[in-house]
Amino acid sequence: MPAVNLNYGTLKENYLFAEIAKRVNAYAALHPEQHLLRLGIGDVTQPLTPSVIAALHEAVDLQSSADTFHGYMSELGYAPLRSAVAAYYRRRSVTLKDSEVFVSSGASDELGDILNLFDRSLDVILLEPAYPAYADANVMDGRTIHYLAASDANGFTPLPPQESMQALIYICSPNNPTGAVFTRELLKQWVDYANQTGSVILFDAAYEAFITRDDIPRSIYEIEGAKTCAIEISSLSKTAGFTGTRCGYTVIPEDLERDGMNLNAMWVRNRTTRTNGVSFILQHGALAVFSEQGQKEVQELLSVYRANAKRFMKALDEAGLNYFGGENAPYIWMKCPHGRSGWETFDLLLEQAQIVGTPGEGFGKCGAGYFRFSMFADPDDIEEAGRRISTVLK
Ligand code: PLP
Repeated sequence: MPAVNLNYGTLKENYLFAEIAKRVNAYAALHPEQHLLRLGIGDVTQPLTPSVIAALHEAVDLQSSADTFHGYMSELGYAPLRSAVAAYYRRRSVTLKDSEVFVSSGASDELGDILNLFDRSLDVILLEPAYPAYADANVMDGRTIHYLAASDANGFTPLPPQESMQALIYICSPNNPTGAVFTRELLKQWVDYANQTGSVILFDAAYEAFITRDDIPRSIYEIEGAKTCAIEISSLSKTAGFTGTRCGYTVIPEDLERDGMNLNAMWVRNRTTRTNGVSFILQHGALAVFSEQGQKEVQELLSVYRANAKRFMKALDEAGLNYFGGENAPYIWMKCPHGRSGWETFDLLLEQAQIVGTPGEGFGKCGAGYFRFSMFADPDDIEEAGRRISTVLK
């Protein structure tokens, strides 16, 4: 019998960001005078908002006195924060009990940890191109993955498969990397499919705050029937600049049951066994995001990235380039012109325009021939990249 998890041996080399770093470092070593315009990795560039900073300072002070000090927190989340998240959903007409909201240290952690609820024989449906962690976390568990192509032909938002299959289904809307958003009608088809087949949808809502159109759902629970088939994983990383601060939340409805087991109760058991919760200081900071003033500041923060997207899309339009996303999403997914691959486009942009982006091939086979630009970049870099791109790619 093996002593270790041999599935790790079947993981594909995760060379995307390592390969990007290698090529960028080699270029920077040869051209130290050049400023690189970094539109690659989807990390944020704007700082935490004033309300969050004030709350974090306040939390540190609270920890300095025995009267206000917090020791171990609830493994499920700080009660006022769970309530604030439920209230945030209520503003969009989604009614959740506080007990259906779990505070996490970010979406990545949850996307990996949540798999503990599912049998390793359960198949996975992945809409590709996809955030690479979805596949890798399941390969580590030895699950079989069925890839469903998201393409130009279906607006990067595919329909459920014809075949009835019980599976764990990943849906990310707004999507990383394509920037596509799922309509209400389409999500309803996925919810119906999941309920009919006994599947569970893992809905990744990390970019929900970028949706400005009222008719596009920001939560899977805006769809009738979702509470019996979906888990929603969200994060303050991209909404409120928490990539380095770390806080998110996961919703597991109490109505979600499979095989006579209640998934909310299972997750309570999981959390109370496998974590001692998220730090009080961070949760106090996160709470400030949901205050009235905090929400105003979040909108100001997001407006920086939205303006980036508008500016960059204008540049792509002027250059006659074909792209998706950018509206209701912080990513722009460009079709590489002249039949080039994503990697060829990467080299061209780096060497001739000092623009760093991400080749679509890094998000799976269906990403070939596409290129992702992140709108979380510095606004000056976006403006300059917009100026340079037409001369290189026209
Ligand atoms: N889900 C998607 C689709 C992402 O793009 C990211 C980060 O880029 C995450 C989850 C992880 O977010 P977090 O910082 O909350 O771990």
